[in-house]
Amino acid sequence: MSTPQPRANVAEIPPYVAGRPPTVRPGMTSYKLSSNENPYPPLPGVVEAVQAGVGAMNRYPDMGSTALYAALGESFGVPVDHLSVATGSVGLIYQLVQAFCDPGDEVVYAWRSFEAYPIAVTAAAATSVQVPVLADGRHDLDAMAAAVTDRTKIVLVCTPNNPTGPAVTQTELDAFLAKVPGHVLVVVDEAYVEFVRMDDAVDGIATYRRHDNVVLTRTFSKAYGLAGFRVGYAVAPAPIAGALRAVSLPFGVSTIAQAAAIASLERSAELFERVDELVAERARVVAGLREVGWDVPEPQGNFVWFGLGDRTAEFAAAADEAGIVVRPFAGEGARVSIGEDEANDRLISVAAAFR
Ligand code: PMP
Repeated sequence: MSTPQPRANVAEIPPYVAGRPPTVRPGMTSYKLSSNENPYPPLPGVVEAVQAGVGAMNRYPDMGSTALYAALGESFGVPVDHLSVATGSVGLIYQLVQAFCDPGDEVVYAWRSFEAYPIAVTAAAATSVQVPVLADGRHDLDAMAAAVTDRTKIVLVCTPNNPTGPAVTQTELDAFLAKVPGHVLVVVDEAYVEFVRMDDAVDGIATYRRHDNVVLTRTFSKAYGLAGFRVGYAVAPAPIAGALRAVSLPFGVSTIAQAAAIASLERSAELFERVDELVAERARVVAGLREVGWDVPEPQGNFVWFGLGDRTAEFAAAADEAGIVVRPFAGEGARVSIGEDEANDRLISVAAAFR
């Protein structure tokens, strides 16, 4: 029978496995630690800004997101034509591949890393070149530089790396950028940048200013706690930001999402106090895990990685029993978000009992 057929590569797109919601058990609170969300709800001022916009939802949003661009430009000290906003930073990853890759062009990235990368690359009929992360979960930037060929259009550097946790240092990134030819776009995925606390941390804005081929992707989903609103932004030299805007989905950032993002930028100081709380909780979790003998990679995002191999499903089930839902990657390991204090306590006890 003759029916419309999608392009052959569509059948090869791997599925995106969303973090499961909490299991409902009578008499027990269950916590969702499976999607690296922020456990704090939006601030009251953010909710008010959103409510003020709801009455105009019969109208399309400002397609140019003018006020949001202005607020981002002011917050980060960059010209507005060096910015591009999108439906989450995952939207930017899709747009980057769409704007820069012809079918068969190569996109190099670490693996395991963010699961949307192979989806976006395959959807665009480009080719993934996956470079295994080191045993401690860090990017192998030497191997990634060596994997660049004449067909390479993009290298994605995920720092901190989802799901393994470590971040790249500025020294490592500079050495890497020195090796990569200028026609290759280097995307620094900084979805969790606000959680980084380490020596020699990457200064993304200073780095993009020094290189014509560097783009930063960031999000309001994690530190700003707006995952449900779907707002991400890229910072890049004007020609790259312009290409991203050219391929963007018209009206992809809703009126209320723009309002929530602007109100959150205005309240960054208060939101970053919450980030500090989560970073302190992360340190408490890591100390608790190390005390009972777990050797987790250094987490610099709002999540911890357990390289469990074939015990992954067993660990996820034990966590579920204790009322925490984690994100298992079959046969590889489990990623667990830093959540409410009580949820983190439960993680420490589950992990201690699981040794
Ligand atoms: N990059 C990384 C590394 C992520 O982990 C995520 C979300 N899990 C994203 C990008 C996308 O986030 P969002 O689309 O919500 O901005």
